[in-house]
Amino acid sequence: NFRCRSAFKLLEIDDKFKLLQPGYSVVDCGAAPGAWSQVAVQRVNSAGTDPALSRGTVVGVDLLNIPPLDGAHFLPSHDVTDPATHAKLLELLPDRRAHVILSDMAPNASGFREMDHEKLITMCLSLVDLAEKILQPRGSLLCKYWDGILTRKLEEKLSSSFGSVRTLKPEASRKESAERYFLATMYRKPVK
Ligand code: SAM
Repeated sequence: NFRCRSAFKLLEIDDKFKLLQPGYSVVDCGAAPGAWSQVAVQRVNSAGTDPALSRGTVVGVDLLNIPPLDGAHFLPSHDVTDPATHAKLLELLPDRRAHVILSDMAPNASGFREMDHEKLITMCLSLVDLAEKILQPRGSLLCKYWDGILTRKLEEKLSSSFGSVRTLKPEASRKESAERYFLATMYRKPVK
């Protein structure tokens, strides 16, 4: 039983791209109420459900409270875009490294489509800074965005530090919504 239907979007994406492997460390950004974290816990075996497989780590962050979940460590009342949160994440991750960053974050929608789009893209851009601090070489980032004029800017920023960037529209996402996901894989630190 999942806490929210959004779980089916992550299941669909992970079935296809196999992002979440047993033993992996995952950071789930905008984790409340915790459905994506439930999927991640199962797939990385962070609750140790299968003793034959290596045990992963799931850390979820949200501005809101997140009900406890076996196999996940949550940082409620934390802003993913705040550098203080990045520092806490580093401490919670084995070897201070994540294999995968997930983000289903969304701002409270104002109803003004362009404004909401810009807000969410700004949040996604900050995930690239987070990646620079915590993501393993060859790691992956999956992030939700709302399509609009700044989509290209986000795509370009992702392309500068990931070997592959794909746009995904899961079947489980409503056709009429502007919701899309970028799946960026093969992380390499940008050359400065
Ligand atoms: N993936 C979640 C699940 O499956 O249960 C649903 C996530 S919900 C669509 C979006 C979440 O992003 C909200 O809970 C919201 O509080 C959170 N959020 C928005 N801005 C955030 C920020 N700056 N830092 C952390 N979380 C944020």
